[in-house]
Amino acid sequence: MLPFENQVADHIRESGNHVLYRVTPYFEGDELLARGVLIEAEAVEDKEFRFCVWCYNVQPGIEIDYATGESWIAERVLDSEDEILELVLNKNTKRAHRPDCPSVEEMKEKNREYYSGTLQELKERGYTACGRCHPF
Ligand SMILES: [Zn+2]
Repeated sequence: MLPFENQVADHIRESGNHVLYRVTPYFEGDELLARGVLIEAEAVEDKEFRFCVWCYNVQPGIEIDYATGESWIAERVLDSEDEILELVLNKNTKRAHRPDCPSVEEMKEKNREYYSGTLQELKERGYTACGRCHPF
């Protein structure tokens, strides 16, 4: 939703126009969480500025139960037992991270190990998943 909200905010700031704006959530049955929202916008003084977009209520890596509104980080589904993971290990804490995890930046160079191998092998070495980036 954010890019569309920003588009409207920018238009108002730059032109001084007024924008008619409507967001309609769409619920399926008696679910507590909306499946998505319809966003409609039109500038009163400039009919060229208008849009109507549908935004699904989804986020990559997140699983959502629309009935209860609960959400959680999706378990990484491996293609096979032999899938090779590219991870960064902290030899001190015995945690495994995705390469883009913020914790990797904070890690001391001497504790860092670049890992390329299977999950099985990693677990045998006593490594567990980082709670921040959930690599597996
Ligand atoms: Zn991490």
